[in-house]
Amino acid sequence: MIIKIRRDAAQAARQQLLDWLRAQGLEASLVEGTQGAVYALLGDTARVDIERVRARDIVEEARRIHAPYPRASRTSHPRDTVVCAGGARVGGGHFALISGPCSVESEAQILAVARAAKAAGATHLRGGAFKPRTSPYAFSGLEAEGIRLLLRARAETGLPVVSEIMEAGQIPLFDAVDIIQVGARNMQNYALLRALGELRKPVLIKRGLSSTVEELLMSAEYVLAGGNAQVILCERGIRTFETSTRNTLDLSAVPVLKALTHLPVIVDPSHGVGVAALVPPMALAAVAAGADGVMIEVHNDPQNALSDGRQAIAPDALGALVRTMDRVRRAIGQEKGVRE
Ligand code: PEP
Ligand code: MN
Repeated sequence: MIIKIRRDAAQAARQQLLDWLRAQGLEASLVEGTQGAVYALLGDTARVDIERVRARDIVEEARRIHAPYPRASRTSHPRDTVVCAGGARVGGGHFALISGPCSVESEAQILAVARAAKAAGATHLRGGAFKPRTSPYAFSGLEAEGIRLLLRARAETGLPVVSEIMEAGQIPLFDAVDIIQVGARNMQNYALLRALGELRKPVLIKRGLSSTVEELLMSAEYVLAGGNAQVILCERGIRTFETSTRNTLDLSAVPVLKALTHLPVIVDPSHGVGVAALVPPMALAAVAAGADGVMIEVHNDPQNALSDGRQAIAPDALGALVRTMDRVRRAIGQEKGVRE
């Protein structure tokens, strides 16, 4: 961190600033020239609240030169993190195809979709049991029963399962779930992120509807700071002025994130575009952009789905997509295809 001091700053105020920084374990080296004085801080500057530095009258400008997310940053951890859940790996060349319905609706539905997803080449089964819905009157999930049915589908297919949590009080219900999903609407629920940081279980964090890449990385940092190193990031579209798709799928976030962090980065084209016909081309584009996986909503009867039916693709479309994704992976020089 660099702190530029006003020319007229009193020596006593400068000393107070230095004492305050020293109390936080930081040493400041002074560079003084005709333009004024600048302090360069070395040490664990991520812990310094830059707004509190800027709030001091003597500070003209303060700027970070290191990322405020040291644990998520690739600088401190150059090698890709590989997240392991239920025998399936994500990251470091291992591709995840997380597929399943938006919501778990019944035993027959989740078993049928799970079998079809597995046959198509899915590596993980998704299914929402707690659904964040815009309307309080919409179907909001089978809750604990939904988790039970998802685990039943895992027992039959062997696919590790991913499901969304909405609040920390639900953690005991997710004990047997392989990957806990934090939805876009909860990306900045810091109490929830801290609670998940206490676990030693993979957490998949979806980018908030209006969140920047840096804010997504800061959310990951909350989980990592608690000691839970198993975090996957997911781009799922952001809000823009465009209305022809449900959201605007920001695929540039993939190479941006891959450069900034060692964590696996996956893409959810289903919520990104909101229309089934647009999901396969954007999934292929995500693979070409270097994603470590995709999350795709699949339903055996999309017309009668209780949530997000419009964006759910049919199981046979998933099978065809997997074959093309495999070809794109090979074309960009990835040794492992979707099903390896
Ligand atoms: C979901 O995965 O079904 C979901 C609700 O996603 P998001 O949080 O990205 O809207
Ligand atoms: Mn959904």
